[in-house]
Amino acid sequence: MQYHSTRGAAPSLGFRDVTLTGLASDGGLYVPTAWPSFSAADIASLRGLSYVETAVRVMLPFVTPDLSEDELRQLCTQAYGRFAHAAVTPLVQIDQQHWLLELFHGPTLAFKDVALQLLGLLFEKFLAGTNQHLTIVGATSGDTGSAAIDAVAGRIGVDIFMLHPRGRVSDVQRRQMTTVLAPNVHNIAIEGSFDDAQALVKAMFNDADFSGRFQLSAVNSINWARLMAQVVYYFYAAVRLGAPDRAVAFSVPTGNFGDVFAGYVAARMGLPIAKLVVATNVNDILHRALSAGDYSAGTVTPTAAPSMDIQVSSNFERLLFDLAGGSVADQMRGFESTRAMQLTNMQREGAAKLFTSDAIDADGMNEAMRWACAEAGQVIDPHTAIGLAAAQRAGLAADVPVVTLATAHPAKFRDAVERATGVRPQVPGRIGDLFERQERYDTLPATFDAITGYIAERAHARP
Ligand SMILES: *Cc1c(COP(=O)(O)O)cnc(C)c1O
Repeated sequence: MQYHSTRGAAPSLGFRDVTLTGLASDGGLYVPTAWPSFSAADIASLRGLSYVETAVRVMLPFVTPDLSEDELRQLCTQAYGRFAHAAVTPLVQIDQQHWLLELFHGPTLAFKDVALQLLGLLFEKFLAGTNQHLTIVGATSGDTGSAAIDAVAGRIGVDIFMLHPRGRVSDVQRRQMTTVLAPNVHNIAIEGSFDDAQALVKAMFNDADFSGRFQLSAVNSINWARLMAQVVYYFYAAVRLGAPDRAVAFSVPTGNFGDVFAGYVAARMGLPIAKLVVATNVNDILHRALSAGDYSAGTVTPTAAPSMDIQVSSNFERLLFDLAGGSVADQMRGFESTRAMQLTNMQREGAAKLFTSDAIDADGMNEAMRWACAEAGQVIDPHTAIGLAAAQRAGLAADVPVVTLATAHPAKFRDAVERATGVRPQVPGRIGDLFERQERYDTLPATFDAITGYIAERAHARP
């Protein structure tokens, strides 16, 4: 499989290089040059397979020829062996129509573990036997950071610098990052928003000199390998609910458009998906883009679902590219200079075939948390609640199963869950002593010079 950039001016690369590179050198994102195609018979043959075997079947076309089937199986076995549930991503039924796909059984209790546990192993695999040293730079609104840090802590050949917006991640989220004391882990609290952090990371990648000197790599969902790993659970869940004979809808609490883009990829590969519900909180740029063609960034409003407090959704570029059928360099450059753009008619019509969207406010979110409790005894987190509220409001036909992606364990957002439901979720035993552990992080202003100076002092430059 070869990958090309959404902006048309970077070299095509294979899977190994795309994984190690992250962002393309022209500022675009890598996407496969063709979508693998699964026939109904191929999908039917996934019935009854374990999560790991499903993962091998779904991902093999994307990693060939850089990994063999056995190598991929070994990596998946190791990555998903660390999950606390034998099904890795179990389905839970709420009522006749609605299901939750629990994606939070990994080591840091967030769905991002599903992709990042694999990505950490891919880095190690591809760096082994080379003298390369990767510097991973990431921005996190909470969950990416802890999942990425867990995935690479102590790994040889990799340093990680993780930027989070100071005071805007939950205490559990912050501690999950800052209590990892491995010497290759560097946490930076920036005096700014998540979008500021993300813009700084983008600027570092766009600085060819800095990026080349330290061999920067990404763990944000701009990294293709992450999205690829997320495609798996759409197949896994849909097959269990009747695919390929029955189409299934998914509702996805969305920030950077990574998780829901993985659903789009599954559909492009042939999985019968009735609808993808793009669920945002009041930071609703994606809802405005999909419902009115208006992709314009406002200011970020902090909410109880902080991992979705985003006004610029990096991965949306991948969808725009696929729907346009070619480079979106001009469109994206326009957006980058004015922070606003319109979707073309072709993009709007293409998106409308599969996507619907909704923006859920605090009342809608709290109501969904209470409904899940009352209806099925399920305590869900604020992000999941936004997905569930949008799923209920999407007006889907009664015979279509609707799967809401449960993206975080409720214990990560205990205060918000308790306020809405009166139930205080227990922190699972595997992260039980989090509040006794020592923290380590530095606070820096949100400026390019401050951050690059800090990294240059600590990272490994190319020999
Ligand atoms: C990251 C995250 C999201 C948003 O996922 P994207 O891939 O950025 O759209 C939603 N919920 C939780 C809990 C997250 O951590």
